[in-house]
Amino acid sequence: MSDTAADTDERALIERVAAPEGEGREIPDAATREVIGRAPEHTVAELDDAVARAKAAQPGWEARGHEERSALLRAAADAIEAHAEALARLLSREQGKPLNGPNARFEVGACAAWLRTNAALTLEPEVLIDDESGRAELTYKAIGVVGAIGPWNWPLMIGIWQIAPSLRMGNTVVLKPSEYTPLSVLAMLSVMNEVLPADVLIGVSGDREVGARLASHPDVAKVMFTGSTATGRKIIESSAGNLARLTLELGGNDAGIVLPSADPQAIAQDVFWGAFINTGQTCAALKRLYVHDSIYDDVVAALAEVIEKTPMGNGLREDNVLGPLQNKPQFDVVSRLVEDARSRGARVVTGGAPAAELGDLFFQATLVADAVDGMAIVDEEQFGPVLPVIRYSDVEDAVASANRLDVGLGASVWGEREQAREIARRIEAGTVWINSHGGVHPMVPFGGVKGSGYGVEFGVEGLKAVAVPQVING
Ligand code: NAD
Repeated sequence: MSDTAADTDERALIERVAAPEGEGREIPDAATREVIGRAPEHTVAELDDAVARAKAAQPGWEARGHEERSALLRAAADAIEAHAEALARLLSREQGKPLNGPNARFEVGACAAWLRTNAALTLEPEVLIDDESGRAELTYKAIGVVGAIGPWNWPLMIGIWQIAPSLRMGNTVVLKPSEYTPLSVLAMLSVMNEVLPADVLIGVSGDREVGARLASHPDVAKVMFTGSTATGRKIIESSAGNLARLTLELGGNDAGIVLPSADPQAIAQDVFWGAFINTGQTCAALKRLYVHDSIYDDVVAALAEVIEKTPMGNGLREDNVLGPLQNKPQFDVVSRLVEDARSRGARVVTGGAPAAELGDLFFQATLVADAVDGMAIVDEEQFGPVLPVIRYSDVEDAVASANRLDVGLGASVWGEREQAREIARRIEAGTVWINSHGGVHPMVPFGGVKGSGYGVEFGVEGLKAVAVPQVING
């Protein structure tokens, strides 16, 4: 698709989903702050109506069977691909992530890939016993209506992570995107709804009140939530009312441990992307790097070199691969953490200030050396283009540091593989990567421990998470 055709398609998609002039809420371009369009502000009554429609559509959707649903998921992937460039442009403007690099086009591509993989998965009935004591078979059935609530950092991809397995298992879905990034999500749902039957996938755009109602709705049987730990706790509380099953993908503060056997030059690029993917606004990004004393200075120098060479700016320009923070509150968090680190004696090696010449929400990609445990920049999730590097001399201390926080989404160990694997087993995190950080795959379960939530997504385990087990005994 040419630039102009993608631009026209993008405008048509916005027109399909946006609220008319005078209604709804203005959604700004994250880089330029110009208004992109107006997000509809659905009410709690409209949410109730959406759940009622999804509930009515569910038995018919389930009755179509796996083969037909899978075919429709593949058709939805085709529809996304037909509008891929327009969706990527809208995502880039609304979220801020550049088109290029592991960003907007990559995210839209992942949506199609996740749909296809979920369409291809099989969850066969399992015969548990079949002998003189009897026969018992375990099968998985749809739960009903799934309420999906998402964040603003990877709004399309995380939406698809919730939608694809849910639809595949015969559930219908009501999805509430983050109030920061509703237009791109509603546009993607609208594209998918070109091929899906009515009411199996409904988007409701609203604020926290609408999210809270969706999570506590008596006709919602399962809540897939991705967002902050604080909101996750509220959703757990509301599940006491409707007994909804929960998958909670919450915040993280992933540690990376660099062993003395690592080669600083060889790992620098991958460590960089592990930390700065999506300009650091990634749940399972590397957020604190523990480096052995013997190679500390070399790792810091190699990382600074990569950071300084990586272009940041407006996401629609092909040369940029880092963008702005998505919103002002997040920009303020990043600014505060960097200032606090500086005032406590950490050393800003590169970056360290707003990149005001690029726009209001840009913050320079920043490397903070001589950080220590207990500094806010280490202990809090920065969710921005900032990486603190902490020195250690005994690997036991690094493992203890990795485990000392109350979150456990991801982690990584860098160095000789066998030694790294041995250390990985002792880290309290849902995924530990060896010599990489943050890669996810639609066949490989992903989820956190401790304050990062519970339940897993992806693969066959992900299908089971949006299904109810039933035993046929006899
Ligand atoms: P958030 O918790 O502020 O908001 C997430 C969603 O919840 C939004 O749609 C919001 O409207 C809704 N919401 C708010 N209050 C609610 C309530 N009481 N009931 C129901 N819904 C409510 O999170 P955010 O700031 O959008 O996202 C950033 C956070 O998400 C970070 O902590 C990040 O680590 C985490 N995250 C985790 C994963 C993961 O897979 N574990 C992935 C991406 C982001």
